[in-house]
Amino acid sequence: MLREKIIAAIEAVGFDEYREIEATELIFSEDVFASCKANTCGNYGKNHSCPPLSGDMQKNRNRFTAYKQAIILNKIMFLGNYYEKMEACGHTVAHLLNCLRESLSDEPVLIAGPGGCDHCDPCAAKTDEPCHFPDQKRYSMEGSGMDIVTLSRRLNMTYNGGDKKVGFFMVVMY
Ligand code: SF4
Repeated sequence: MLREKIIAAIEAVGFDEYREIEATELIFSEDVFASCKANTCGNYGKNHSCPPLSGDMQKNRNRFTAYKQAIILNKIMFLGNYYEKMEACGHTVAHLLNCLRESLSDEPVLIAGPGGCDHCDPCAAKTDEPCHFPDQKRYSMEGSGMDIVTLSRRLNMTYNGGDKKVGFFMVVMY
């Protein structure tokens, strides 16, 4: 069964927490898009999987709720005493996501994580071109308008682990 394959892949790759919910329990908020618009990460309008290029809230919501189930994943990472490990943490999370994508490449799933799509460097959006690989586009949870803070609280998952530890959230839709 697909669920068992996904759980086996999640356990093999290695995450710290996961919760299984219905797709309709995902939380979307215009406030998240408003934060994206402040462009602190530099992806606003510069990545096809981030707003406004990822579409409006309804389009983003529909992309995820086209699936029935969601498994929310969390990897808790230490950012360093002076946040000096932030970039390395991002690479580690990207690696975990790629391992998971590889394991489930033949399955009808949608996997999203933090940050914009990193399939090409740079994203075609930076030069105002259409996405080079629409079928392989990697969606961002925040860039799709998901309210991870509220969702993590509701699911009793670790968003802020204290002592410079934070949760990096990802989702598998199926
Ligand atoms: S596949 Fe390439 S062009 Fe398309 S969103 Fe991802 S990085 Fe951008």
